[in-house]
Amino acid sequence: MSGFEIGFDSRQCLIGGEWRAGTSGETMPVEDPSTGEPFGEIARGTAADIDAAVHAAETARAGAWGRMTAVERGRLLAGIGRAVAQRVEWLAELESRDVGKPLAQARADAKALARYLEFYGGAADKFHGETIPYLADYTVYTLREPHGVTGHIVPWNYPMQIIGRSVGAALATGNAAVLKPAEEASLTALAFARIAIECGLPAGALNVVTGLGEEAGAALAGHPGVNHLSFTGSVPVGRLVQEAAARNIVPVTLELGGKSPQIVFEDADLPRALPFLVNAGIQNAGQTCSASSRILVHESLHDEVARQMAECYRALTVGPAIGDPSVGPLISDRQRQIVQGFIKGAEADGLKPSAEGALLADAPSGGHYQRPTLYAGVDPQLSIARDEIFGPVQVIVPFRDEAEAVAIANGTDYGLVAGVWTRDGGRQMRMARAIRTGQVFINNYGAGGGVELPFGGFGKSGHGREKGFEALYGFTALKTVAVWHGED
Ligand code: NAD
Repeated sequence: MSGFEIGFDSRQCLIGGEWRAGTSGETMPVEDPSTGEPFGEIARGTAADIDAAVHAAETARAGAWGRMTAVERGRLLAGIGRAVAQRVEWLAELESRDVGKPLAQARADAKALARYLEFYGGAADKFHGETIPYLADYTVYTLREPHGVTGHIVPWNYPMQIIGRSVGAALATGNAAVLKPAEEASLTALAFARIAIECGLPAGALNVVTGLGEEAGAALAGHPGVNHLSFTGSVPVGRLVQEAAARNIVPVTLELGGKSPQIVFEDADLPRALPFLVNAGIQNAGQTCSASSRILVHESLHDEVARQMAECYRALTVGPAIGDPSVGPLISDRQRQIVQGFIKGAEADGLKPSAEGALLADAPSGGHYQRPTLYAGVDPQLSIARDEIFGPVQVIVPFRDEAEAVAIANGTDYGLVAGVWTRDGGRQMRMARAIRTGQVFINNYGAGGGVELPFGGFGKSGHGREKGFEALYGFTALKTVAVWHGED
């Protein structure tokens, strides 16, 4: 065990406003990816715990939580956001230990969680239906109603941000939520729930059950009492969640993977682009759904971009997350083996890295470290240029002209985010339309962008949109009311 103290009993789930051990009594270790050593435990929640959480959410909807007005919900969420903002350092250290995320990046995630709550708290009483002109003697209006109980299945790579965007929007619109965090990273979900309860969130409005995906996660996805599912994670599990939603005929939002390109034209502002090109690939050790893992460069600029990116890569440090290196460890040894598999595949395809980052001398041997690896002059058809790696690996792919850039950009199964670097206004507009991704950044790259910006995928990156005001539509159902008020 490391000397780090979690500071609360992480073996308890939150159900109906009470902290309790899972019904099975079983726990699972919490591992620090920087050392490979355990430093705590979480409950291995079961279908029975999920069932209790769903019933607690239904009870909350019928009780104090369901009776709250939009303005009250908004004030409460904004207050929770302020409390989160006061605990940024605590949350950031928890996340850094639990996920292996460099401390500065974990701090940014905690601030984003606070910001989501501020944003959705502010939006709660500004989201409403419409009136519709209809026949004579009728008044028709629409109501935006909560679905009821929402299920939230969250991955390990950005727990706080993803909880903020999905649970924040669900609560703002009056749903009661059941959250199943990832088994590799549940601590900040539990810590956030503790803050929310301290701030007065009514019992059952938010329930948190930790546990394995195939047990607690599958039970939540298939529970007939859940009225909407928000899933963020991998394509294979997304498919299972959508199948489960189909059996219960409930809506589902899928936020899945990506192979997001940044496209650098010959007239790009290279000094401005360079940090975006590199950081969007190595942020969170490349374990970002919207990581920019493909850099498409006009052939006239390819060698220069490759040279400058290689220089950046050689300056990258890899080490324990809490020391705030450029790149922390990967989440697990399993993830490291997946990334190593891609690197071996690239080698078999005849590729050699053009640059790698440096492992710090104090990096413990049990940590799951992977040096950032850059490849230049890559054929876009190779697996390393088409498949999601989820590690600090980027490829540079040359292209001849705009048409070829679009074809390569759209040439994977995914469509999450793209960046375009050009000073040509017409080309900016054409590219924004031609690229099939949920977000397009022109002369910048947001890796998901700000809290205010709707986000989601095309193709195997998923469907539905979260973030921004748009998410509020997804977390509500529309009811049309047609009133005939007759003649005098
Ligand atoms: P994962 O699919 O393995 O797990 C995600 C969540 O699903 C976890 O909570 C897990 O416990 C749960 N789960 C696993 N099996 C389940 C099952 N049978 N039924 C129900 N739930 C189950 O994904 P991961 O490895 O944690 O995350 C990495 C993936 O997530 C990547 O593909 C990444 O691109 C994607 N991701 C997408 C976004 C986005 O917003 N688009 C954001 C972050 C991560």
